[in-house]
Amino acid sequence: MSKSSLTKYLFVTGGVASSLGKGIVSASLGKLLEARGYTVTIQKLDPYINVDPGTMNPYEHGECYVTNDGAETDLDLGHYERFLTTETSQANNVTTGRIYQSVIDKERRGDYLGKTVQVIPHITNEIKEHVQLLGNTGQFDIVITEIGGTVGDIESLPFIEAVRQLKWELEGDAISIHLTLVPYLSAAGELKTKPTQNSVKKLRELGLQPDILVCRTEHSLNSDIRRKIALFCNVEKDAVIESIDAESIYDVPLLMQEEQLDKVALRKLGLKDDTDVELKMWKEFLGRLKNPKHEIHIGLIGKYVELRDAYKSIAEAFIHAGASNECKVKLHWIHSEEVNTENAKKTLDNLDGILVAPGFGDRGIDGKLVAVRYARENNIPFLGICLGMQCAVIEYGRNVLHLENAHSAEINPTTTHPVIDIMEEQKSITEKGGTMRLGAYPCSIEKGSLAHEVYEKDNIMERHRHRFEFNNKYKEQYESGGMKASGINPESKLVEIVEIPEHPFFIGVQFHPEYKSTVANPQPLFVGFVGAALKHAQNK
Ligand code: GLN
Repeated sequence: MSKSSLTKYLFVTGGVASSLGKGIVSASLGKLLEARGYTVTIQKLDPYINVDPGTMNPYEHGECYVTNDGAETDLDLGHYERFLTTETSQANNVTTGRIYQSVIDKERRGDYLGKTVQVIPHITNEIKEHVQLLGNTGQFDIVITEIGGTVGDIESLPFIEAVRQLKWELEGDAISIHLTLVPYLSAAGELKTKPTQNSVKKLRELGLQPDILVCRTEHSLNSDIRRKIALFCNVEKDAVIESIDAESIYDVPLLMQEEQLDKVALRKLGLKDDTDVELKMWKEFLGRLKNPKHEIHIGLIGKYVELRDAYKSIAEAFIHAGASNECKVKLHWIHSEEVNTENAKKTLDNLDGILVAPGFGDRGIDGKLVAVRYARENNIPFLGICLGMQCAVIEYGRNVLHLENAHSAEINPTTTHPVIDIMEEQKSITEKGGTMRLGAYPCSIEKGSLAHEVYEKDNIMERHRHRFEFNNKYKEQYESGGMKASGINPESKLVEIVEIPEHPFFIGVQFHPEYKSTVANPQPLFVGFVGAALKHAQNK
């Protein structure tokens, strides 16, 4: 912690309301700084008491995003990876729970012997250490730290205090950005600045003066409004940045560039702002995204479809894969509990591709099995992810191999044919948090397979989040019966990919390919699946 620290820190707080898009603004700013040649990483501090979001229901928290090193994290980390070229890790997501757990462990070890352990300084010091973990690796010029929640929440107070202290200690090497809302009152026909003023006032009561304000708005902020916000919030006028509603989240970096958010941030951090911004590839992606030549319909069969954030990375992976195929992907969110043999044709026949989503537990499983069968029997391109792959195995066992009542031991522990079974190393585990098979594992792909055709590689690494696996006792029977295990973990021999060579495009993967799809590198399975769906649509 010194003035000469090489890494610069940028803190992003939010006020007035939640869901203003702090994650996207942080990712967009990160993208712009990266496009100027700086190495950037983004971290999220979450004020809840869960140690990580892994144990939370997707209805509560949306998708749980998994990093290479197996951290179960906030879905904003997915945005950071999709926008930037830096991969994230456990250090990129820190919760109140993790901070307290670490402080309590230290207290029990006797690290604070003789002292009363308190929020200030022990919790705040722990937060400060976690914020600087990434900076101290020496890998990054800039660390952006997004503070979850809204200023004024009781939960986020220690985080704001830690940011205040860090800003003071790091002097010119840290700045803070506050994201607020400037609502439009249609009855008055006016944009209102008071909520922003109050939010900044609240922040200043906590000792934090924002250097930049990013104002979410539905209408453009004119010069008078900017001047008014600047004057009453104590920021420079050019540091009042408009963040107008965008058609796509991928437009936001360009909108932020127009507003010069990156330039202002660099100037305030004392970094050079005359470097070129390299966004050619990004603009090409946007060009393809906005001018599709074709359109396809994909059904996403899942049990959390009411909350689309539950499948965030899958939806984004389709945007990347669609753009790379110059094709608009229209996602149809289909509730697995509502699919049955009677309505299968009506619900699924107009689709060009069927994706059966990941998940846990038995709710909606029968609908997923019906969807798999429909895709298999009607030559509709199919992609099964994690539980979706397991459903493909169960369905094939039951309806093709005649393994009566074949099931996953997760759903029917006493089934006569546990074609999906608990992994050996999971059997003795009773704790729920962070105990699944998590993070990146290698997979060897068989040459000549569909998987090999889409990946164009012999070996891949993909991220996992599951407890159950394909039961290798049945492998021979499946392979001779027409379902191939085309991807295998070279060490544990766990089956990672299954496919049906007879079918135009039928593939199930035990891992989660969606976590690795980015604007720069659309995920090959999604690209291949969209390509196959396009072909299916054109042949109809
Ligand atoms: N519930 C299944 C398992 O634990 C699948 C998990 C998933 O889809 N992520 O193996």
